[in-house]
Amino acid sequence: MHHKNKLYSVAAIAAAAALTLSACGGGGGDQAGGDGDTLRIGIKYDQPGLGYADGGEYTGFDVEVAKYVAKELGYSEDQIEWVESPSANRENMLSNNQVDMIFATYSITDERKESVDFAGPYFVAGQDLLVRSDDDSIKGPEDLAGKNLCSVTGSTSAENVREEVPGVNLVEQSGYADCVTMLGSGGVDAVTTDDIILAGLASTDANKGKFRVVGNTFSEEKYGVGLPKGSDKCEDINAAIEKMIDDGAWEEAVTSNTEGADYSYNKDLNPPTPEACAS
Ligand code: GLU
Repeated sequence: MHHKNKLYSVAAIAAAAALTLSACGGGGGDQAGGDGDTLRIGIKYDQPGLGYADGGEYTGFDVEVAKYVAKELGYSEDQIEWVESPSANRENMLSNNQVDMIFATYSITDERKESVDFAGPYFVAGQDLLVRSDDDSIKGPEDLAGKNLCSVTGSTSAENVREEVPGVNLVEQSGYADCVTMLGSGGVDAVTTDDIILAGLASTDANKGKFRVVGNTFSEEKYGVGLPKGSDKCEDINAAIEKMIDDGAWEEAVTSNTEGADYSYNKDLNPPTPEACAS
């Protein structure tokens, strides 16, 4: 009898410990990883081929790089909690501890480095323009004066246009898919952001044939892994990115996620070498 009671209390303590662990697990940020906690990863939900959410399924190149990196850090796929990170919210989501890391076509810039850290880059894209298929009046940013152009709040795409393209009427949305809808209905004459994002949006079943990426890039966008300032994960993430490139998984992920899109990545700039982590 005594023996049985003792067993019971050992089980109860174990159960209580497990509860405590799972209650604390959500934070995740400072854990070494792989010890039963959750990794909260910010991605886009509306960029086909990069970060896309469809009925609880998450797909795209960013998602695949994120899964590979998470695995190297000791997290299984079911320990990942995907969180939508729109362009304008990324720095805040990292600073406010709403996510542990962000893989969301997130360009490394000096301005962003003031509030967040970056690992990577793991890809280099270039800013381009998307137009209606039958419109051959826009061949580059120099043809945009007097035109209506859509981009996204909080992106380098919108900022570059504001700084470098005089005379254009810039309309801002919260996501690029909304911009493409406006382009289809004639609300704007062009959409601007990274070439790989535009190619993915133009290749969906609903959009196929309607739009064309101009193919004249005018920036270099180095996709980094956004981290809270002072994160200790940067070195391990860079090692994971290098491993993904070396073992062929990177190439496979780019190829499979751009299949059917009229897109090939810039071979002079890709695959990139991760930069030194902030000290
Ligand atoms: N790569 C650019 C940026 O980080 C444009 C794409 C985006 O908004 O995610 O702002």
